[in-house]
Amino acid sequence: LIRLEGVTKRFGTNTVLDDLNFSVEPGKHVTLIGPSGSGKTTILRLLMTLAKPDEGTITVDGQRLFPAPEKQVREVRKKIGMVFQQFNLFPNMSVLRNITEAPVRVLGLPKDEAEARARELLDLVGLADKCDAKPTRLSGGQQQRVAIARALAMRPQVLLLDEVTSALDPELVAGVLDLLRDIARSTDITMLCVTHEMGFARDISDQVLMFDAGRVIESGSPEKIFGDPEQERTREFISAVL
Ligand code: ATP
Repeated sequence: LIRLEGVTKRFGTNTVLDDLNFSVEPGKHVTLIGPSGSGKTTILRLLMTLAKPDEGTITVDGQRLFPAPEKQVREVRKKIGMVFQQFNLFPNMSVLRNITEAPVRVLGLPKDEAEARARELLDLVGLADKCDAKPTRLSGGQQQRVAIARALAMRPQVLLLDEVTSALDPELVAGVLDLLRDIARSTDITMLCVTHEMGFARDISDQVLMFDAGRVIESGSPEKIFGDPEQERTREFISAVL
């Protein structure tokens, strides 16, 4: 479903992604792990078209995302949703409006249909009673649930999760991870996930990619990567974070 070929990204003289190649099959859950600064977030940002590669190609569901004409980028981009570390909700809109805004504006869904879908999703994330609240009145965990509902409202084929629990108070982390486990189990959505939560990565992943200095240095099943990695660098990283 997702294919990166020869993707290189530089910031000035800093090569953040170095001739990267990998692909993700439909419906699979792939976790990116590795030290801070190894380029994991940058990959999600490229897929979300928040940044552009310097070289290489990115294909999603058989269509080019990069390089591609603007109109095609907009079409392909609709297949992808993202949840950010810092929630990034619209602070001046109600919870319901946060979720209906993109389906109405981008997909052209009628407002009542978008609202019905938003209410179903709020029910799914356990916030049915918060439709009219402003995001700032919610806890971090609740805000992140709204952000997850907002991403799902676009019915994306791919969900990108960027360290979605790192900004949460410790007691709120487990609830959000449980919700994501449920979504991973009960939908056929393809997930690409950057996380430092190794237990979660082990539970949901079909494949784990270990990054170092802008390259995938090892990939495999969670059992292999967490249990018996081949690379010394992977072994060091895992023992440092576990
Ligand atoms: P972390 O776990 O800390 O988020 P990461 O593996 O996700 O790390 P990235 O956020 O992808 O790493 O960053 C990779 C490198 O790119 C870092 O050296 C970072 O400083 C650099 N970088 C990222 N965004 C920019 C930017 N907009 N301008 C300049 N440098 C950037």
